[in-house]
Amino acid sequence: MKTDALIIGAGPAGSACAYELSKRGIGNILIERKIKPGTPVQCAEFIPININQYIDLTDKPEAICQSVEYMEVDTEKKNYKFDGRGYILNREIFDYYIAMLAAAKGTELITNTFAQKVIENENKLIARNKIGNNIIEINYKYLVIASGAKNFIDFIAQQSNTKYICNNVYIHGMQIKTHLLKPSDSAMIYFRNYIPYGYGWVFPKLGFANVGIGIEHNIHNNINLMQSFAFFLSEMKEKGIIDGEIISKTSGLIPISALNETVCENIAYCGDAAGLTHPITGAGNLSAVISGTLAGEFIYESLKTGRNLLADYKEELFSIFYKPLLKAKTKRSNFYVKKYEQLSPEELDCIVRQSWPSFTGYHSA
Ligand SMILES: Cc1cc2nc3c(=O)[nH]c(=O)nc-3n(C[C@H](O)[C@H](O)[C@H](O)COP(=O)(O)OP(=O)(O)OC[C@H]3O[C@@H](n4cnc5c(N)ncnc54)[C@H](O)[C@@H]3O)c2cc1C
Repeated sequence: MKTDALIIGAGPAGSACAYELSKRGIGNILIERKIKPGTPVQCAEFIPININQYIDLTDKPEAICQSVEYMEVDTEKKNYKFDGRGYILNREIFDYYIAMLAAAKGTELITNTFAQKVIENENKLIARNKIGNNIIEINYKYLVIASGAKNFIDFIAQQSNTKYICNNVYIHGMQIKTHLLKPSDSAMIYFRNYIPYGYGWVFPKLGFANVGIGIEHNIHNNINLMQSFAFFLSEMKEKGIIDGEIISKTSGLIPISALNETVCENIAYCGDAAGLTHPITGAGNLSAVISGTLAGEFIYESLKTGRNLLADYKEELFSIFYKPLLKAKTKRSNFYVKKYEQLSPEELDCIVRQSWPSFTGYHSA
């Protein structure tokens, strides 16, 4: 097979890229390892209201479960309330919808197929279709890597110096869907000393809630995620926020290393694969859509002019994301205190007010 643009991963980043290319009449193939894009969901599903600038959800209202007006940040010492307009998505519908928008405009979507190897000097991808276990080879002019937080693709770089620059620090997220006992229009964030270097969340989904914790877990700390999650669920139950019945469970990795390389010759990275997830909040849905759309735009321009303009894509990403991500990465170090589990509510409150983007303290030097 041959294509102008080959995209790996039909998450929000890859599908937004495919959609942008197809809208502009560029032939492209979108490879996805899942049977259906978007399923299973590994996300708390919040997205800021500005998603409307990129994807028109008015034709697909089911992609939004409910609106939120506020973000509440609870440090145990105090509960702070900020404006925070956005949506809690039905992400399985949202992801599938963007992939279908692309397919309707001409993207060739190949699901259930795992991208295995990139042979860079031949501009060739080798993928394995899981049904027939057969190998597919696809030649591309431009390759977009939108395969999320962890990349399982081997690179065989025979001639170029390309190295895959990957995420290397992660927050481990665990989440359940349960019943929410009182309706809410706030995305609620909880900082606790038993959730080290991370936080807990309760995001309302009409009568339900996504309730989870994210902890930075690495070889230097020996945190028991399950235990922290159990503490969090029991606190939320005791407070009468949720009933704790497990309707479904999910987990996943949130990359927080940020500022990865985003372009290598004719290969563009976007979304989590480009390290665009916010190192403090863990938000990555909107940046995935923005970066995917931009990758599509610059590949279109490159094909139209016959000049590789991916350096401009890199520069554009830099101008949008560099400062906020660098700031967040720097502020993240505030959390790296010894004996986190012994922090008092007052001490934790002080750290959070310097480190969470809604507070003015975050924006000071
Ligand atoms: C527990 C949790 C909660 C989160 N909550 C939020 C939140 O509330 N708000 C927010 O903004 N962000 C949240 N995030 C982050 C958000 O989910 C990601 O930033 C976002 O999904 C990134 O989109 P993406 O398209 O880059 O990657 P993904 O959504 O991960 O999509 C990548 C796609 O590539 C496919 N793929 C991977 N490897 C291959 C391969 N080799 N071959 C073929 N296909 C492949 C995958 O199956 C997947 O469909 C959360 C993350 C986690 C883990």
